[in-house]
Amino acid sequence: MTVFISYSCIIGEEWRQVKDNVVAVDLGGTLIRSALINEKGEILARAKRETLAQEGPEPVIERIEACIRDVSKGAEPISIAAPGPLDPWKGIIHQAPNLPGWREVPLADILHRTFKVPVYLNNDANLAALAEHRFGAGQGVSDLIYLTISTGIGGGIISQGRLLVGAKGLAGEVGHMTLEPEGPPCGCGGRGHLESLASGPAIARRAVEEIEKGAETSITRLVEGEPSKVTAKVVAQAAQEGDPLANSIFKEAGFYIGLGIANLLHILNPELIIIGGGVSKAGDLLFDPIRATVEARAILSIKEGVKIVPSALGDDVGLLGAAAFVLKAG
Ligand SMILES: [Zn+2]
Repeated sequence: MTVFISYSCIIGEEWRQVKDNVVAVDLGGTLIRSALINEKGEILARAKRETLAQEGPEPVIERIEACIRDVSKGAEPISIAAPGPLDPWKGIIHQAPNLPGWREVPLADILHRTFKVPVYLNNDANLAALAEHRFGAGQGVSDLIYLTISTGIGGGIISQGRLLVGAKGLAGEVGHMTLEPEGPPCGCGGRGHLESLASGPAIARRAVEEIEKGAETSITRLVEGEPSKVTAKVVAQAAQEGDPLANSIFKEAGFYIGLGIANLLHILNPELIIIGGGVSKAGDLLFDPIRATVEARAILSIKEGVKIVPSALGDDVGLLGAAAFVLKAG
């Protein structure tokens, strides 16, 4: 029988199930990464393969299995970090924007049939929050929020030392809070969501919009006049070179993220905000306007002492979160 952790008892001591090693898998739109991880969060072996997501679920699942075999002889429980929305109780991926063709895929069950070990499946951003809490920037902090700013914007909430999961396991979807009711369309079908205003693609889109209006910017030179080559990374590079447009676009993205964080502070009263994901590598370009907006928009008693810091675990945050979900502490 497939063993799933009941989310109703995720928190506190109960969810810490095993003391030995675990095989963690981070299923991303570009890369599948796997690792054998011990209870201290030390990575004992690792492997990766390109996802080649356009080939559809079956070949991708075969590559996941190969990545697991690369790091394990098959005795350890398997814990998977995957993009959502997904059902952590049933181990089913409902759909995933970066994984074409994935609809209601019972991934945990498929892997359990192959490896005959317990298999756990959770949202990657929720697991990242657990990882930072257990092994990273949030150690010893009881109330924190993790945000990932990447192709999309996701989040995970630790409240009183517990991962907040919600009624359907879908809590923490911070990227879909509405900040501009008439704002740009979001990948989810909504409008003016944080993700549609401040994700990597949103930053690139803003730059292209301004270039098409005739803005003078070094972004044009960096992409050799080809708008389809504009990415958040290119905009960050231009901003670091002092380009005014690129700087204003990062300021705008940081403003919206800061606005979102101010909303979250008022609802959840965390003491720490951790920001990861590829776009967060822009550093102060993004963090300065975020901090300034939180300072301007949150009420004094709630913002006092709140730290806003970068992720401490970088690209391993999904793997370590998957491990943290099943490993017994101490
Ligand atoms: Zn949305």
